[in-house]
Amino acid sequence: MEHHSKVRKFSHSVEHNIGSLLQGDVSMGDMIRIWLDPWLSDVPLRVLFLNLILLENHKGCLTSEMFEVSDIGVVWKWEWKHSAWSGTEEADLLNLYQMLDTFQPSEWNKRILKKVNIFAWQASLNRLPTLSDLTRRNVPVDSTLSKFCSEDEETGAHLLISCRSAGQIWQNISSWCMIAQIYAFTVTDLLSAHDYYRLGRRKKEILYGIILTACWCI
Ligand SMILES: [Zn+2]
Repeated sequence: MEHHSKVRKFSHSVEHNIGSLLQGDVSMGDMIRIWLDPWLSDVPLRVLFLNLILLENHKGCLTSEMFEVSDIGVVWKWEWKHSAWSGTEEADLLNLYQMLDTFQPSEWNKRILKKVNIFAWQASLNRLPTLSDLTRRNVPVDSTLSKFCSEDEETGAHLLISCRSAGQIWQNISSWCMIAQIYAFTVTDLLSAHDYYRLGRRKKEILYGIILTACWCI
């Protein structure tokens, strides 16, 4: 019984949040400040790369202003104050580029707020602060078992897919959107599930937004 009421409350919160999270055509890159917002990890780049931000001419610049997508992938347009790099600066720059390698601008969904997209992105990289992940990072937790079902370890995939509560939520969303059951084995599957439906581009985008928002609510 307790399980069902949790799911009902949850589905309600998903529906409620979708309304407030689906926004007009605001591109993600138009909202994220590359140095100041935590978008590549939990910590903003200005904190991770103290040496580099000192060399940045436009500290408040937006992500969308900073890259172009070309045949060879994403090209970043940095404007540094100097080009004679010290050893530390060079090492930082290398680390920054390695972090930026994980960036996939095509996957930003334009219709949802950045926190939801950032969450989904972290989920796809297996970087969610789940109980199992916290233990791995030596953060003390009482138990790593799923808070919803207490049956299995709380990993990103369990939380978002294999947990009974999650299954119920995907079932509810599928019937609410009148589509075949959303089906996934991994977080990556889940985040590309919208692509497997025979829907128009706009509807797919909306479905993706709904799936991301539901993940974020979970
Ligand atoms: Zn569970």
